[in-house]
Amino acid sequence: MTKCVFLDRDGVINKDFEDYAYSLDRFIILDGVREAVRLLKDDGYLLIVVTNQAGISKGIYTRFQMQACHDYMQAELENRIDRIYYAPWHPAHSESLSRKPGTLMFERAIARFDIDPSLSWMIGDRKTDIFAGRKMGLKTIQLGGKADGNPDFVEVDLLAAANRILEP
Ligand SMILES: [Mg+2]
Repeated sequence: MTKCVFLDRDGVINKDFEDYAYSLDRFIILDGVREAVRLLKDDGYLLIVVTNQAGISKGIYTRFQMQACHDYMQAELENRIDRIYYAPWHPAHSESLSRKPGTLMFERAIARFDIDPSLSWMIGDRKTDIFAGRKMGLKTIQLGGKADGNPDFVEVDLLAAANRILEP
C-alpha cells in the first residue's frame, strides 16, 4: 500500500485570497513549497491535492481558469503533484459529499491509489481540512498558527510540516 500526503491548495501551496485565487497573476506559490514538495516526494509519498473551489458554482471563475492555475502550479512544482481533486460546489447550490469537511475526494483517492490512511497525512490551513483528515484516520497538520481543527500538529508553513512528517 501507498503512503500519501494530502494537501489543501489555497493557503498551503499558494497564497489565499478572500475572493479566490483563479488567475495566474494571483496564483502565488508560497515560500518553501517547492522544497517541501521535493522532500516529501523523494521520501516516497504520493502527493494529492484536495481543494474546495466553490467559486466555480458561484460563477466567479470557470473550470478552465482553475485548470490554467493548476497547469502553472504543476510546472512550478516540476509535476510532483500526483493528482488534483476539486469540489466545485457551494452549500447554497448543492449538498456535496466532496466539499471538505466531506470526505469523498479522499475516499476516491484512497481507492484509486491504494493508499494506507494509517501511513498518511492531511495538511491544511482551515479546520474543515483537519476535520476531513481526521474522519479518514489521517494524521493532521494545521498551518498558519491556528489549531481550531484540533490537529495532531500545528506548523507555520508547508516546509515546516514536511520536516515534521520526515522527522525520524
Ligand atoms: Mg486553504
